[in-house]
Amino acid sequence: MPFFVRHVAIAAALTLAGAGTLASAAQPDAALLSAAQAAQPKVVQSLKEMVSIESGSANARGLAQMASYTEKRLQALGAKVERLPVTKGPGTMVKATFTGTGKRRVMLIAHLDTVYPENTLATQPIREEGNRLYGPGIADDKGGIAVILHSLEILKQQGWRDYAQITVLFNPDEEVGSVGSAETIATLAAQHDVVLSCEPTAAKDVVKAEALLLGASGTATATMQVQGRASHAGAAPERGRNALLELAHQLQQTRDAATLVPGSQLNWTQAQAGTVRNQIPESAVAYGDVRTTAAGAAEKLKVALQDKVKSSQLVPDTHTTVTMEEGRPPFVADARGRALARRAQEIYAELDGRTLALAEGTGGATDASFAARSGKPAVVESFGLAGFGYHARDEYIELDSIVPRLYLMTRILQDIGRN
Ligand SMILES: [Zn+2]
Repeated sequence: MPFFVRHVAIAAALTLAGAGTLASAAQPDAALLSAAQAAQPKVVQSLKEMVSIESGSANARGLAQMASYTEKRLQALGAKVERLPVTKGPGTMVKATFTGTGKRRVMLIAHLDTVYPENTLATQPIREEGNRLYGPGIADDKGGIAVILHSLEILKQQGWRDYAQITVLFNPDEEVGSVGSAETIATLAAQHDVVLSCEPTAAKDVVKAEALLLGASGTATATMQVQGRASHAGAAPERGRNALLELAHQLQQTRDAATLVPGSQLNWTQAQAGTVRNQIPESAVAYGDVRTTAAGAAEKLKVALQDKVKSSQLVPDTHTTVTMEEGRPPFVADARGRALARRAQEIYAELDGRTLALAEGTGGATDASFAARSGKPAVVESFGLAGFGYHARDEYIELDSIVPRLYLMTRILQDIGRN
């Protein structure tokens, strides 16, 4: 999950949703809780095994090792396991199907790749220090994979089969936009009632309480292209049509265009023009970072930009076009997702009143966006382990989040099955 402001967003949300006045907490499910406690050392072992496989998004060998590691684990749990190809980039998806005797169809997602280049382990080895277990990718997202594998193991031991189908999908390209797996995630998710996405939650050392995530910005890239006419800058500048000047004008007049489109944000961040100093530049291009919090906002922003561009021109005979390439759509949990998240708060409260915050949004991006795109399943994000330092240095998980997270996942799956 590529994000940086997420922790701020969660911290802000804490005051709104954090220490809500929950009704007096019910007793925990003793069988699930003791199974979660018994599983903790095995989770630590799985984390160490997975972190020792370096699987940066460009590391084909590491991604293949992660695919076969998770494939074997899922087979041992009794799943039918398939590899699904990605349409772009290295690695394969791993899809596991469990068929039960109940009514609900649930999908669990996490990702195999990390942001780290090969040999990061050499300078940031796996190490345990107090409540922290360190390692590159341990929170984002090997902790999420561990929650899925060990929760399903606990439920198997309990003989739980109260589901029509549980589908697990691990993709190898989340950290590079899930370009090659997005359509598979969206299509499969639409065939399920519920999708639980297992990205990490920020460590409580940093944000005071663990959280679930109910929203994330969509992303897009706006491209503005100006076509002018080249000419000798010294001998015949008047014959040229300066694309750079026109681009500068168009950037100025479109800089506030996103204010016209609710749920959109635009910042022009990159530009290129000209090749040599002594030529009037024939073409110029700028790229804008677009974030959206409403469905369809990127398309509306494109139209608003195109209208603005037509409204005035600085350099005659130039031609300006605006295009929009959409990345992840915005993720906004619906009423069913919110109800599930409130139920998760009750489940957490069973653990000596442990607090679970509900974070409304993040400037980062998540595959929950693709899972929710069809509007068919209820989707909630951040069922992974609590940690910090992802996409940075010295990434870690908090060991004392393992039991609560296993308890939450197993108990909420049982609840979904019953309902
Ligand atoms: Zn992630």
